[in-house]
Amino acid sequence: MKLNDIYGKGGKPVSFEVFPPKSNDGNTDGLIETLRELEEFGPALISVTYGAGGSSRASSPALVKRIRSELKTPPMPHFTCVCSSRDFIGQYIRSLEDDGIENILALRGDPPQDGRPNEGDFRYADELTRFIRENTDLAIGTAGYPEGHKEAKSLDEDTECLKRKIEAGACAVFTQLFFDNEKFFEYLERTARAGISVPMIPGMLPPKSLSQIRRMTEMCGASIPKKLENLFEKYPSGEDAEKAGTEYCLEQCSELLENGAAGLHFYTMNQSNTVSKIIRNLNLK
Ligand code: FAD
Repeated sequence: MKLNDIYGKGGKPVSFEVFPPKSNDGNTDGLIETLRELEEFGPALISVTYGAGGSSRASSPALVKRIRSELKTPPMPHFTCVCSSRDFIGQYIRSLEDDGIENILALRGDPPQDGRPNEGDFRYADELTRFIRENTDLAIGTAGYPEGHKEAKSLDEDTECLKRKIEAGACAVFTQLFFDNEKFFEYLERTARAGISVPMIPGMLPPKSLSQIRRMTEMCGASIPKKLENLFEKYPSGEDAEKAGTEYCLEQCSELLENGAAGLHFYTMNQSNTVSKIIRNLNLK
């Protein structure tokens, strides 16, 4: 089923993000089992990350194929265009369609960390999005940043960038993780004011410890609300911390669903326990 049919039709679909494992020589048996467990919740899709600069050029498509052939839930491959040529991208997206894939998350990605510039044919995600739309029938998802992308000079510039991606053909927005729902609600208002009306699916990361969320927010630019910081100061690590983080995320999810989120997209970190506990306690009807 395509993104246009999954979202914005009144339901509250859940979806899961996974990445190609690096441990165990990249063996994906354990991850497939984890996803089988999560299929209990009838997810709309499983999204599979793609390393910018080519770090998972082979493992990401291989995992997508495995999900497609062994699980009930359709995979949605991510694709990052930095450092890729138009020819390579053209062949890749057509091969996805040949394999029966219906949706793709089109991203720019981050330029290589060794200082090389982006030597690909596309500079930004809107250019990639237009190319995919012109060359395939894939439904295209795009990345959104409730607190602004870290390179954007202002929230208005960030909104303009999102608008360009929608005009280029993206039909659903999957957001960066955030821990403060107010940021998402402001994002909904800001983007609606700019005329953006596609479904917005919040990206949820059940937090596990202060050090984990500090590391992740440093990379993506999200903020840590005082309430969450205080919680982890009280329960710094171990089972107590995990329980507190799970409850925090559950509260976040419930409030989002009651107030305009088109679904929930979980950053699973390739694990099922916490996410399962959260979904079991949500009202998804
Ligand atoms: P863009 O939308 O192109 O934006 C990048 C920056 O450029 C923004 O600051 C924007 O304001 C600016 N910009 C855009 N157009 C212009 C223009 N014309 N002129 C000047 N500035 C402009 N990364 C991975 O490597 N692999 C993944 O699988 C992956 N999955 C992700 C999934 C989600 C849901 C999200 C939210 C992010 C994901 N990322 C992934 C991270 C993403 O690749 C980075 O955040 C990257 O820096 C930006 O990608 P983008 O597609 O949002 O880029």
